[in-house]
Amino acid sequence: MFSDCTRESGGRFPAAFLYCCTMRLSHITTQFSRFLGVAVALAGTVLLSGCFWLDGPQSTFDPNGPVARRQMDLFYTTCWVSLFIFVVVGAVLAYAMIKFRARGEADEHAEPPEQAHGNPYHPGAIETCCTIAWMAVSVDMLRMSGDSRVADELSYPPSTASLARRSPTGAGGPYYTPMNGDRKAATQEINFQARPGSPELSCCSVNAPRGLGMLSEWAVMTAKDGIALNYYGPSTITAKTPSGNVIRLAQKTEYPLNGRVILTVTPERSEAFTLRLRIPSWSRATVVTVNGEAVPHVTSGEYLTLKHTWRRGDKIELALDMSPRFWVGEKECANTVSIFTGPILLAYDPRFDAYDPTRLPAVDIVRAPTAAPKWTRAPKPLLLLRFATQDGKQITLCDFANAGTAGNHYVSWLPASGLKPAPFTRENPRRQIR
Ligand SMILES: [Zn+2]
Repeated sequence: MFSDCTRESGGRFPAAFLYCCTMRLSHITTQFSRFLGVAVALAGTVLLSGCFWLDGPQSTFDPNGPVARRQMDLFYTTCWVSLFIFVVVGAVLAYAMIKFRARGEADEHAEPPEQAHGNPYHPGAIETCCTIAWMAVSVDMLRMSGDSRVADELSYPPSTASLARRSPTGAGGPYYTPMNGDRKAATQEINFQARPGSPELSCCSVNAPRGLGMLSEWAVMTAKDGIALNYYGPSTITAKTPSGNVIRLAQKTEYPLNGRVILTVTPERSEAFTLRLRIPSWSRATVVTVNGEAVPHVTSGEYLTLKHTWRRGDKIELALDMSPRFWVGEKECANTVSIFTGPILLAYDPRFDAYDPTRLPAVDIVRAPTAAPKWTRAPKPLLLLRFATQDGKQITLCDFANAGTAGNHYVSWLPASGLKPAPFTRENPRRQIR
């Protein structure tokens, strides 16, 4: 039947071929099948009308139509470009692997090119520019995630990294600020960047002030239903609610020297909106009152949501838990500990005590520190605390930002023994123990 139909339709017209087949089938089947056959023929005709009916074999690699030829050209172009990229990238990779392979101490090429290390205990330092870039990324992350722990991380640099990255004279910041080491001016390390008339010019000295300037981007942020306060410190900040109402937030506090913050909310006009307060993840027990009334369920590492009709002079009081916290070192920092109080990292500077910084006694982390006598000589530290040592003596520690500012060697990974490191968790990203 099919060969007959092929002959009858001339082998060129699919509609005629289908019609022929359907008519032949209709002679040998029932009435219903006949109807079905016609329907199939019609559907097939419509379907096949989009196809060619050509003599001889067809090949994907030998297109006859202009559209198919263009597609073929595009396919070949893509193939050749991909092959070129594959060969070039592979060759560069192979070259780098062979050239920078470890070949022993004596080889002058044994050192790999400059690269990042993912280990917080590495004795190397991070460039000021990198810290500032990390802060800028964190501001975006905070904006996108609304996760208060990102603001917790940002709140360390104003008191540690950013302040540590300015010179006492204000003339220029350092290139590197190691966790243990010396505070060298950028002019000592990257002086090739200096220009006539600007001897202190360097990437790091111009980037360093951005650490503090960035406060304007994250200290107070807005949300759809109100505003969020991320920054604590003596300040008066104005912000606008989504309705455009101007809110003044005035903080009376000595933070970060202690955890007491008195916040006065002054809206231009009374308005019901949500005010979020960052409760730092390190503040284990935080007490918050609004106009003298205690707020329940204050959780560390989250925003405290205060939905309220805010009126001029509304007062919020916070008592943050500033008790010392300890990060137990591992790897290159095994048998050492770094000590924090609030957002302040502490460090040893021989300016404030008599120990040789390379031979410090082990710190006793169990006994609470006491305030050290006031220091009056410049450059003054922000904070001085006295900790007990395991051999029954005492050691004076200052805030990291002011350690080494007089040119002394400082140490922030302090000797300690018998301490178990805390695991990294979402609740305890800084792996701290108390
Ligand atoms: Zn730099």
